[in-house]
Amino acid sequence: MLPLTESSIRSSFVNASRKEVKDMSVPDGLDEYGDAAWDALDFLGWRDAKFARRAYVVLPRIEGEPVGVALRQAEGSPRSRAMCNWCRDVRLPNEVVFWSAKRTGAAGRRGGTIGILICQDFQCCRNVRNDPPKPYDGYDMAAARERRIDDLRMRVDDFAADLLGER
Ligand SMILES: [Zn+2]
Repeated sequence: MLPLTESSIRSSFVNASRKEVKDMSVPDGLDEYGDAAWDALDFLGWRDAKFARRAYVVLPRIEGEPVGVALRQAEGSPRSRAMCNWCRDVRLPNEVVFWSAKRTGAAGRRGGTIGILICQDFQCCRNVRNDPPKPYDGYDMAAARERRIDDLRMRVDDFAADLLGER
């Protein structure tokens, strides 16, 4: 994804109040992220350092500006190890938890939310780049990785579109 700054992050939020945006913590060391670090991200996700159940994602759009989304972790956890809706890593390499995001606009004012299962610490970008064991000789690992990355970007964009009520 393209590099973000603290101010571009704070101004990207679509479902948080001005106070929530002001109170939120941003990731540490953003200024030190090099091009390689941003290239290895399909979205930026982090948990709030001060509020246990709050987290944030900034989602690049296929067309348009990145969209910041405030998330709340639901009470309790999925009954069994769940698969993340975004990276869909079948190896279940980390905890996946249930998040809810307030919808934007009138739907949000009526209390509308979207629920989604995502990796607890937003490990999705790392997971899609972590190649599985080669299933057979001649299997194109690089192409498979590109496909997983593309699929993740599509799902992230779909989520943003859904939240914004674009469809
Ligand atoms: Zn994931």
